[in-house]
Amino acid sequence: MKTLSRDEIVDLLSADRPHFLELLEEARKMREKHYDRFVTIHILSNAKSGRCSEDCGFCSQSARYSTAIETYPLLKPETLLEQASNAAAAGAEKFCIVTATRAATRPLLDKLCPTISTIKKTFPHLKICTSLGLLTPEAAQRLKEAGADRYNHNLETSERFFPNLVTTHSWTDRVRSVEIAKTAGLETCCGGLVGIGETKEDIADWLLALHRLDVDSIPINLFDPRPGTPYASVRPLSATEALRILALARLVHPHRDIRCAGGREKILGPLQPLALFAVNSIFSNGYLTTPGQGLAADREMIRAVGYQIREIREKSGSERIDENTAAPFPKTGLQSTSTSSSDRPLKTAKTRPEQATSLRSS
Ligand code: SF4
Repeated sequence: MKTLSRDEIVDLLSADRPHFLELLEEARKMREKHYDRFVTIHILSNAKSGRCSEDCGFCSQSARYSTAIETYPLLKPETLLEQASNAAAAGAEKFCIVTATRAATRPLLDKLCPTISTIKKTFPHLKICTSLGLLTPEAAQRLKEAGADRYNHNLETSERFFPNLVTTHSWTDRVRSVEIAKTAGLETCCGGLVGIGETKEDIADWLLALHRLDVDSIPINLFDPRPGTPYASVRPLSATEALRILALARLVHPHRDIRCAGGREKILGPLQPLALFAVNSIFSNGYLTTPGQGLAADREMIRAVGYQIREIREKSGSERIDENTAAPFPKTGLQSTSTSSSDRPLKTAKTRPEQATSLRSS
């Protein structure tokens, strides 16, 4: 499967031509081709907060930095079950269990796997994603057998830039964990964060690395500097810079589940609804250590742009369109997830102004 080249991505990220809205319009066509006007909701559980041994410089949960987050050990099974119940009731497609841990260790899995099995039995149509750190084949197998559907482990950024952010494990360690998850039959959720000082080339390399890894889902965090961390004083992305990156992510990954993750409200501000023209899913009801705008406001935002939440009926497993979002529109159904070179929309004009409006399907 061909995609944009590194040079093409860098060109489109670097210039102020084409205008970000033109790029977003190309992304919207791709997004609606594969996901129609549906949005899926993912709900996070910060199942074990803080005191992490790793030194990820962007993360307020590292034990190495003095941050003002709430810390606690692994949540009790009944708490996680209640959270899963709330996620199902909210119409979420995925319930994401995240722990601030270096790796999915045996003791962690001993505690967590029975809970995953209980959630799966209770809510069979709620997909369960786990994000527990580095994986071994044995750990991946245990999660799969317990009923987890998906594993999240982000590359975060390019291989070149990664050592600026993390020194306690490597980018290659992360790639290996994603490959292990895939081999175990878990769906892979793997993205990263933008706006922490990486270059346009780093963003291009990161997007292309995800393409090579052939990941199923790509969460993109818009870096919202966390007080007390080494990157607390980084200049945040502007909303239009962030939207340009989200649009490029869609153009590089036309049919993937791309999710606007942490930082959505803070970085995009009033332009936040425009992100839905590039991404097809969002985390709702807050992030790991920061609040979001809440489910009601997310529903309103989705309705306002004419999109609808795609929910799964827990009892029957059938799809349901949330009647509280969006006016009716002709339902064309989800498109095939296969893709082809016809998904490549851009002949990247080397951004001469006179070529700026020539964003047409090739
Ligand atoms: S491994 Fe995860 S929780 Fe731990 S410091 Fe890194 S990003 Fe934060």
